[in-house]
Amino acid sequence: MKILKKILKWTGIVLAVLLVAGFALFFIYVRPVLKHMEQTHVIKYDKDLTIVEGGGGNSGILVSDSLVLVIDTKMGDAAEELSKMVHELAGNKPIVVVNTHYHSDHIKGNVFYKGQHIIGGGNYTKEEWIKEGGEETLPTQWVKDQLDIKMGDDTATIFNINRNAHTVSDVVVYLHKRKMLFTGDVILNQQAPALVSHAADPDGYLEDFNMLQKQFDIQQIVPGHGPIGGIEILNDFRQYFYDMETAANDDTKRGELVKKYDGWIQVPFLMSTGATISAIKKKGEAK
Ligand SMILES: [Zn+2]
Repeated sequence: MKILKKILKWTGIVLAVLLVAGFALFFIYVRPVLKHMEQTHVIKYDKDLTIVEGGGGNSGILVSDSLVLVIDTKMGDAAEELSKMVHELAGNKPIVVVNTHYHSDHIKGNVFYKGQHIIGGGNYTKEEWIKEGGEETLPTQWVKDQLDIKMGDDTATIFNINRNAHTVSDVVVYLHKRKMLFTGDVILNQQAPALVSHAADPDGYLEDFNMLQKQFDIQQIVPGHGPIGGIEILNDFRQYFYDMETAANDDTKRGELVKKYDGWIQVPFLMSTGATISAIKKKGEAK
């Protein structure tokens, strides 16, 4: 009995320590990132294009005479705010929503576009989508390859990447006249990627960067998260993957390369240099 009591006591202590550590980790690392992600920043890019950074994934609203295109619908309060902006801009025009991928922070706001057209990547099954985002966020159309939509004097190309990177069906949107690419989470600005999805593939990211640059003349980038900018966002994110690959294969360089990204937004174990290195190593072992 004495032994049992001792075991129970120590189990209690260990659990308490883990709990405290968990809370500390949450408050030190996760909460600031969540707070940061909740904030929105509205950019009136030009007469017809509005970009809303944050509040989940970055979003775009493009207005033409015949319809309004919305790229990613955010989550939480920001999703509702975005939908109010969209409906005000749209008036009676039909709304076409594009989801860059099926993660909650990009699609939860779909519920505010009932009866409108919602486009998602064609490599997901309906069941997979429902499991991620719920039935109420389901697209009405699945794009397997690409779809061109005439938008005033610009054309929007909705392009399904048929190569696993962030997920199994990442979709990008290219605005031809503006030479602007909405990348979803295939490209992030100053933020480590989340490679937790079973389909996430570090090699896929690198291949996609090359493919996208061949496919489109990219001058402006609206990343999935982080501020919008020019082609340097793609170059920096590509360099991140090269650096993490080097770090995964050479322990002597790891410390220095990891330090290089101290200023980026990270969450330990989830989206961090360490998590990327583990994903690359795991991929290497599976080969
Ligand atoms: Zn995201």
